[in-house]
Amino acid sequence: MISYLVYICLSLVLILGLLKKSIDLNVIRRDATREAVLVSILNSIAGPGQFLSYLTFVGTSSFFTRLGREYKMSRLLSKDIYGRDRLQVVAVGLLPGAIGSICIILYIIGLRDTASKLLLIPLAMIATSNADTWASEIGVLYKGKPRLILKPRLKVEPGTSGAVSPLGIVASLGGAATIACVSALATRLTEYVLCDPNYSMQIIFMIVLVSGFVGEVSDSIFGYVLQEKRRCRICGTICEHEYHCGEPTEHLWGIKSIKGEHVNMMAQAISGLTCLILTSLLL
Ligand SMILES: [Zn+2]
Repeated sequence: MISYLVYICLSLVLILGLLKKSIDLNVIRRDATREAVLVSILNSIAGPGQFLSYLTFVGTSSFFTRLGREYKMSRLLSKDIYGRDRLQVVAVGLLPGAIGSICIILYIIGLRDTASKLLLIPLAMIATSNADTWASEIGVLYKGKPRLILKPRLKVEPGTSGAVSPLGIVASLGGAATIACVSALATRLTEYVLCDPNYSMQIIFMIVLVSGFVGEVSDSIFGYVLQEKRRCRICGTICEHEYHCGEPTEHLWGIKSIKGEHVNMMAQAISGLTCLILTSLLL
């Protein structure tokens, strides 16, 4: 218990230090500070395993967001270069943070088996967010046009929700695998993780990887079905912009008020559910 309290104090210092750096480097916007602190604390309360996975997500996502910065800015491909806003910070970090913290409470009140079983859910959710960020930030650097996930014969503008490219798919697998790897190692490297020591690292890796990737695929499907799609009346390009080629675009399908962040949270829920099913079957 004392070592856990020492860990919490150290992680608080780390969070505050990294926060300043994150604002300076445009990883998050200044007005999202409060949300970023809350979400980081929740993910650290859940224990060193989850905190390491969360930090890996924040670090690698920021790196890939900055990758090809000039190209993305010149083609308006990523507004995230200017930093994540409040809704984005909450959408990726709140669910895993809350579930991880619940696991700790369950553990403290003596429900250790249940805590052990639920422990991988937030890790799978972080894997989905990491896969999604890697897919979009690396995927937009793909030189060809991406295709809609459920209508692959339709090419769309880079950055359109529900669009996939070969580079994006490889990137998303890499993103999920990285978190799966960190999760599997972290359950062994630190002694304050709730994880049942009988769980094999390979199984933990596979569960987090598969759930993370399933979550990312469902992110593309939800993005395809729910987010608004429009078509340029001049060149026929399918996109999400109100204007293209200097003319207003026409509505095709989808709901304007559904944002990427709503889709991200639904994808995390699918990832968590997949993880729960796999955990009950395999562990
Ligand atoms: Zn056009």
